[in-house]
Amino acid sequence: MQSKNQLNVIHVALKIPFADHLDYQLPRSLSLPPLGARVLVHLGRNKPVVGVVVGFSETSPHGSLKPINEILDNEAFFNDKNLALFKQAAKYYQITLGEMIFTAVPSWFKQVHNKPVPQQKWWQAKSSLEHAEQLLSTAPKQLEVFQYLLNHGPITSKSLTHLTKSAAQVCQLLADKGLAQANELCLVDNQAAIDPGYTLTTDQQTAWSKLQHHDKHFKVMLLDGVTGSGKTEIYIRFIQSLLKQHKQVLLLVPEIGLTPQLFHEISQRINGQMAILHSGLTDSARARVWQHAKTGKLDVVVATRSGIFTPFQNLGAILIDEEHDLSYKQQEGVRYSARDLAVLRGKIEHIPVVLGSATPSLETFNHAQQGQYLWLKLRSRTNHNPLPNIVLQNVNNNKPNMGLSVKSLNAIRLHLTEGNQVLVFLNRRGWSPKLICQECGWVAQCDDCDVYLTYHKHLDLLKCHHCDRRYLVPEFCPACGSQHVETMGVGTEKIAEGLKKNLSTTDVVRFDRDCVKTPKQWQNNLEIVRSGKPCVIVGTQMLSKGHDFPLLSLVVVVNVDNSFFSADFRATEYLAQLLTQVSGRAGRADTKGEVIIQTQFPEHPFFNALFAQGYETFAHQQLTERIQMQFPPATYLAIIRAQHRDSYMLESFLTEMTACCNDNQHVNVLGPIPAMIAKKQKLHRMQIILNGNQRRALHALIRQLKQQFNQNKVQWFIDIDPVSFD
Ligand code: ADP
Ligand code: ZN
Ligand code: ZN
Repeated sequence: MQSKNQLNVIHVALKIPFADHLDYQLPRSLSLPPLGARVLVHLGRNKPVVGVVVGFSETSPHGSLKPINEILDNEAFFNDKNLALFKQAAKYYQITLGEMIFTAVPSWFKQVHNKPVPQQKWWQAKSSLEHAEQLLSTAPKQLEVFQYLLNHGPITSKSLTHLTKSAAQVCQLLADKGLAQANELCLVDNQAAIDPGYTLTTDQQTAWSKLQHHDKHFKVMLLDGVTGSGKTEIYIRFIQSLLKQHKQVLLLVPEIGLTPQLFHEISQRINGQMAILHSGLTDSARARVWQHAKTGKLDVVVATRSGIFTPFQNLGAILIDEEHDLSYKQQEGVRYSARDLAVLRGKIEHIPVVLGSATPSLETFNHAQQGQYLWLKLRSRTNHNPLPNIVLQNVNNNKPNMGLSVKSLNAIRLHLTEGNQVLVFLNRRGWSPKLICQECGWVAQCDDCDVYLTYHKHLDLLKCHHCDRRYLVPEFCPACGSQHVETMGVGTEKIAEGLKKNLSTTDVVRFDRDCVKTPKQWQNNLEIVRSGKPCVIVGTQMLSKGHDFPLLSLVVVVNVDNSFFSADFRATEYLAQLLTQVSGRAGRADTKGEVIIQTQFPEHPFFNALFAQGYETFAHQQLTERIQMQFPPATYLAIIRAQHRDSYMLESFLTEMTACCNDNQHVNVLGPIPAMIAKKQKLHRMQIILNGNQRRALHALIRQLKQQFNQNKVQWFIDIDPVSFD
């Protein structure tokens, strides 16, 4: 007989939308699992699934309970702090605890078989070359592998397959002879840390000494430094000091492409184990990072957005590079902001959080201005070069050809002949963003989405950038039969081709999602640029941040005028960030930088505010405007997004929902209105925008809607603190 006050009802969080947890019975055959352990349970009549133990009780309000099938972890998989983060995040984003947890967990740990995470062997040479040459005089292949390990280790045998297909066996042979050894981590030689011995600039010194005062408790710090002011150096010193205290550090970066560079830079400077974590890794690789972070074997994890959930044994700080970057906000499924969660996690773990940016988001800026965040400013560049010279070029008087005006082309030539590199920036890939009939004005559109099709010349196809559907180029206008169907506007493909024609001898390197799909391709492109030859880089958003191109002296920005007509109140903030970041690429080293912005509106007050007075003043002005207009960060925003094949059903559903919000005193309701992309993959998309000056009231309203509209024919989602109206 089990005694009455035994905790044998287990609360299990599962990936379900209707409850934070379900109750299960602990069978007598099993002992009590620890809080935070994974268990296997039946959900409905389906196959067993993995859930996480989030609580216990003696009894359950629900009748007869299903039993726990199996306990997968003998020790907690998530500790109390991890669980607290999930709980608070779920509450904030108005989803269930299970939805939050299972958004975060690598799939490996969601598998019912519960196999151990496969380990990887990192091979390293363990003897001198002379000794190996003696031993391997008759085994040239082994010697070759040995030499490679000596020069490039630690390395996995996978990275040796270009030498021999049986690299794993060869490594093992070397190990048997005592010439090599394997570790489950990429153990870097402690002596490898290189100190460049910089004398900190005055700004760096000030920031660094303030930062050191807050290395043992919760404090959010904004490291607000112009491009080239040496923010990375501050990150590195902070990481070094935390590692000395035997703590772990999580560094978030916006994009996969940025990880190898920063990773390399940091790894050269620290005595510790580092790993990269991003969604491009295999599932087992991600699981390995989790495991090693959890057991404390890893010292530093450099990760993209989802890395914010990585469990650590002894986390000492979270650093977020380019904190303003929109990729920290997940735009589908659970719409969390990794930056905001970092602050939440910092509070839960009692550790500092450093937000770094040359162009802080207005949300962060606002917190810094109000004193909630400690504001560390770096205003001078480490090389004391002035910021680049900005030229606003009126394209009404300088008609561009293939995207670039004669003036811009001449400037490009000049910078190239001086031995420098040039960046042409535009945020549109493909050849041209429109195919248009000259007679009747018909524009090629995607059948499934409410967007124009982009022409890609190398494919000779039209492509939808939202659903990827491809179309043949029509010979006649489908509306009027005219043959005068032509492309209009420029994309990176066209700009690159125009440049190749005009500067026949110079390398043109294109960075966009068509050319750069893998980290490897990134690396290849970067290598061309790093080789130092004069060249023109043509790139999209991808290139606006984080990269140090020392030879870049000119940046030409094409086609930014759309932002002035955007319905998004944040459009000018984003444009200011983009232009500042892109301009910051110019003249980082010894060359004086120049930036040309091709625009139809050189007189626009926006440019004056940003360039004459700088980002801080600009941000300050914007913030004042936001307060006047009652937009975030002065208020709190949430969007209800819904989609359906039937536009009538969609609208009537959302109209009904809107009616339930209308008499709320604290929340302004706008909608239903079509999303900026009103149709995507055959689904019509509409939204209701909720804007309130009390977070509590806003959240209460959403909770009420969730209850009221929990069973419905129309799929809908909540986006808390949205960053776009797409
Ligand atoms: P940010 O990230 O702020 O744009 P970086 O951290 O990339 O700037 O620094 C710009 C360059 O200056 C880098 O090449 C870096 O190695 C170098 N650097 C950083 N701090 C110093 C310093 N105190 N003295 C000289 N060079 C420095
Ligand atoms: Zn026509
Ligand atoms: Zn489409």
